[in-house]
Amino acid sequence: MKALDDLTFDNRFARLGDGFSTHVLPEPIDAPRLVVASSAAMALLDLDPAVAQTPVFAELFGGHKLWAEAEPRAMVYSGHQFGSYNPQLGDGRGLLLGEVYNAAGEHWDLHLKGAGQTPYSRMGDGRAVLRSSIREFLASEALHALGIPSSRALCVIGSDTPVWREKQERAAMVLRLAPSHIRFGHFEYFYYTQKTELHQQLAEHVLKLHFPECQEQPEPYLAMFREIVERNAELIAKWQAYGFCHGVMNTDNMSILGITFDFGPFAFLDDFDAHFICNHSDHEGRYSFSNQVPIGQWNLSALAQALTPYISVEALRETLGLYLPLYQAHYLDLMRRRLGLTTAEDDDQKLVERLLQLMQNSGVDYTLFFRRLGDEPAALAVARLRDDFVDRAGFDAWADEYKARVEREGSASETQRRERMHAVNPLYILRNYLAQNAITAAESGDYSEVHRLHEVLSKPFEEQAGMEQYAQRPPDWGKHLEISCSS
Ligand code: AMP
Ligand code: MG
Repeated sequence: MKALDDLTFDNRFARLGDGFSTHVLPEPIDAPRLVVASSAAMALLDLDPAVAQTPVFAELFGGHKLWAEAEPRAMVYSGHQFGSYNPQLGDGRGLLLGEVYNAAGEHWDLHLKGAGQTPYSRMGDGRAVLRSSIREFLASEALHALGIPSSRALCVIGSDTPVWREKQERAAMVLRLAPSHIRFGHFEYFYYTQKTELHQQLAEHVLKLHFPECQEQPEPYLAMFREIVERNAELIAKWQAYGFCHGVMNTDNMSILGITFDFGPFAFLDDFDAHFICNHSDHEGRYSFSNQVPIGQWNLSALAQALTPYISVEALRETLGLYLPLYQAHYLDLMRRRLGLTTAEDDDQKLVERLLQLMQNSGVDYTLFFRRLGDEPAALAVARLRDDFVDRAGFDAWADEYKARVEREGSASETQRRERMHAVNPLYILRNYLAQNAITAAESGDYSEVHRLHEVLSKPFEEQAGMEQYAQRPPDWGKHLEISCSS
């Protein structure tokens, strides 16, 4: 276990030089105080969880202090936002403090979000508010606990610093951890500005550090692109299987590592709704829940364009063609597991689609349905769930097929079925209204609800005594919360 002073830095991205990022010091926030820390994320840096309670922790992650070996940099990138190319993006309110490696030899970027203005802030104030920082913290750690790849969050530091959004709020900082903060938009920036040498340097850096096994392949950059396609297909399959809506899948918010990245107006589905739009500025529904699948491919083709200097168009096309079949295979595999199925049959896809359509028509809670389906033997479970459906006849027809399908699976005992299903069907997810309750309390200085929610969500598959209220459908006020994009 390490103390804060013992972190070991190796700032590989900073060493790429000024063409890639600009040195900027964090701008401290007033009266920094710990809102919440993740001991699981601290463990990634070998940090003793007790250090979160020391004053220096809030000073470091509130921008007041810096390690001597840290090299805070704002990264430059660009990207496609809502389908249009924006040449002028970059870390407008976050700084890469440096890269730390742990005892296992893993490197983690320390990225301080809300650290003040940078050359890429455009009209922005460089700040993040408490509300959005808590949402990012809870979501990162909750996704990880669900087994969905994500950037991680070490802590949230609150402050007295006023910031103006639709109303006056307080500034906060969140310390984000990821093996890399390189986005699709990094490649796009160097491609569209025609900075050929820097583009080449970036590609070499990413290949060597993040896809070392691809170096052995006959065409290393093609192998790397293929890996990025595969990882994103798998990531988006997980989002779809668990009802996660990202909300702003711009190419500057897509990680080359295929992890969930840059949290804004995200949401987990309550009622199943394929057309759900969590970002209320997304008038066309470009990033609606079901559109995440084709948008994943659209984003990968934007990345492919930026890789044309290294890979033939033909090979890029062919590799892009892998995305959809890979996505479908992962998705179906996950949905089979959620249904408690251990074998594969040709009609399973249809079984899933028909269920989702029934759920959509009746506004059935997506998370609780699967959890309850595993509670009892299949026949009893579907009999209990029947009341949630408006179209009873439609559900009965589905249920008969499902029961027959489960019977064909044969042997597994009921206890095994229950255990198997509960291990993949969470009881607790980060519902918007739960996050909102925790934020409201935190805005008046009470962080206990953030702590409780973080704790519950760290074991989403385990029924926890006294936590029933976290496994409920939202109350009426919590069903259609508009989450502001201004964060
Ligand atoms: P996002 O929608 O959070 O992915 O942000 C898009 C771009 O706007 C990124 O380049 C951000 O760094 C920048 N940005 C967002 N909020 C702010 C802010 N408050 N101040 C400065 N830049 C910001
Ligand atoms: Mg972003």
